[in-house]
Amino acid sequence: AKHNSRGSLHFFDSQLEQAVSERMRIERELRAGIAAGQLRLHYQPQVTMQEGRHLAVVGAEALVRWQHPRQGLIAPGRFIALAEETGLIAALGRWVLQTACKQLAVWKGRPAFADLVLAVNVSAAQFLEPGFTQQVLELLASTCAPPGRLKLELTESLLVQNAEAVIATMSALQAHGVQFSLDDFGTGYSSLAYLKRLPLQQLKIDQGFVRDLETDGNDATIARSIAALARGLGLTVIAEGVETAGQRDLLAAMGCTTYQGYYYSRPLALQDFEAWCLRQAG
Ligand code: C2E
Ligand code: CA
Ligand code: CA
Ligand code: CA
Repeated sequence: AKHNSRGSLHFFDSQLEQAVSERMRIERELRAGIAAGQLRLHYQPQVTMQEGRHLAVVGAEALVRWQHPRQGLIAPGRFIALAEETGLIAALGRWVLQTACKQLAVWKGRPAFADLVLAVNVSAAQFLEPGFTQQVLELLASTCAPPGRLKLELTESLLVQNAEAVIATMSALQAHGVQFSLDDFGTGYSSLAYLKRLPLQQLKIDQGFVRDLETDGNDATIARSIAALARGLGLTVIAEGVETAGQRDLLAAMGCTTYQGYYYSRPLALQDFEAWCLRQAG
């Protein structure tokens, strides 16, 4: 309701109207953009240090971008939440999974890439959709992707919703070899009681704990605890947002074995990612 006697409210109303119509424009353009093939996947290497400090690429995280016809490449921070709120995440998530599966099928036939595990982000709304298990199994089958090379990154927000349904879906997919990583660990509503019941392979230390690792003792304590927790539960642990050798060395001393971050590489377009992997091997 507009309060015509108050100029400031008037101003606020028109700001709000602008924001709402901006949202509707993005929603309309994203819907059309998904159908028109404007989504892209970038690949960020996930690496481990082998003996003699030799770097080995173990996989990649697939990160979606939107190639907008006028605005260029748009980062997911600007459209994922909107996609979740409008239901577009179903189509977006399906495209991401299908593209990731197709890529795994291509890599299966190329020895340098055949062992890579591709991590795919899955929104809670997408994961809880009825038929999600079936969708993933059908995509794996229709693309001939090896299920054991697909890793789904889930966030803790999923667990507050319906833990029983989450565990059932994870178990069904894991029975086919699909792996799971708990993303942004420690930033949400972690329930340690659920953690032991989840069929997980990996915990991912959030970049919020990695950023100031070298100067913030509390962050170091939390990162060390997550690494110890993972070890105790028989899970692997990966740190995201690793930007310096110092962070990597501290993480290694804590028992973290796998790293992802700008220190190694930014997320890369497919050709650049493949070239990067070949350079590490050569
Ligand atoms: P995330 O899953 O936590 O992904 C990590 C984000 O950190 C990525 O941002 C990545 O580019 C960025 N990053 C990686 N290394 C570093 C580093 O060393 N320093 C810093 N400062 N940042 C680093 P991006 O690609 O913009 O993605 C943002 C978020 O969007 C992701 O956060 C994820 O929650 C979401 N997202 C991305 N792709 C998908 C998708 O296909 N589906 C869904 N549902 N969400 C996605
Ligand atoms: Ca992630
Ligand atoms: Ca993350
Ligand atoms: Ca994060």
